[in-house]
Amino acid sequence: LVSLRGKRALITGAASGIGRATALRFAEAGADLELVDLNESSLEETKELAEKFGVEVNIHRVDLSRKVEVDALWKALEGREPDILVNNAGVYWFKDFTEVDEGFYEKAMAINLHSVFWMCQHFVRARKDKGGVIINVSSIEAFLPFAKGLVHYDTAKLGVVAITRAIAREYGKRIRANVIVPGGIETEGVKRLKKEAIMKFDMEKISISFNFNARLPMGRFGQPDEVARVMLFLASDLASYVNGAIIPVDGGFLST
Ligand code: NAD
Repeated sequence: LVSLRGKRALITGAASGIGRATALRFAEAGADLELVDLNESSLEETKELAEKFGVEVNIHRVDLSRKVEVDALWKALEGREPDILVNNAGVYWFKDFTEVDEGFYEKAMAINLHSVFWMCQHFVRARKDKGGVIINVSSIEAFLPFAKGLVHYDTAKLGVVAITRAIAREYGKRIRANVIVPGGIETEGVKRLKKEAIMKFDMEKISISFNFNARLPMGRFGQPDEVARVMLFLASDLASYVNGAIIPVDGGFLST
């Protein structure tokens, strides 16, 4: 049995998709939760679902792209700093590389990369003597870019790998840091994307330079909980000797 009883976990992007599924798995395993997202109403829903497992759940409406808000979050957490940090929040905004301007680039990088950097820094400051676990979320896109219009995203998501591995090496005595690399996962975000693309009859423009579905070895997208279960493993003592690892949860996509 995997137990996180007595642990406190902070999960970003917990209002939706992989983040919500992770919150529920962690709650089921007995962890108290600090849930972070921009979307407060959906975050409330995650909180209600997680509380059914009898754990403590606190929610924080934070725009992770703004460092002042990240700093304020950790100020609010003083005295109950988490044992486990999951940096999951991210945005896959499509924009043609030639049309990316400074404002767009800075916003996208602030969410997908810089927030991970600052969140990890706060965590390491708080936990470098006590120990802890970091799980960061990259993407198959970073290893095998297949979609058009995600050059900025690929840049950020490979950066996430670099941050994680550097921390794993530098603080490995006490902190385990690993990266999950999701494949196509049927989350709210991905469903929205598919709908928008279909509505605009624009699948070709936003995306996929080959037939993505045909290339899935398992013939299907993954479900958020299939990622959450790997999060649970990494967060728990079952993974006590797993550090600096890059773990695809992609149904074999990267191996094809
Ligand atoms: P999602 O869109 O369903 O959920 C992401 C959550 O992050 C949302 O609740 C959103 O409000 C929150 N968020 C976005 N910007 C934020 C900000 N500035 N501050 C705070 N919260 C913010 O996404 P998902 O599909 O569950 O993806 C989760 C992670 O997995 C992302 O990092 C994504 O890049 C990565 N990923 C997803 C897939 C996939 O197929 N779903 C594949 C590879 C990687």
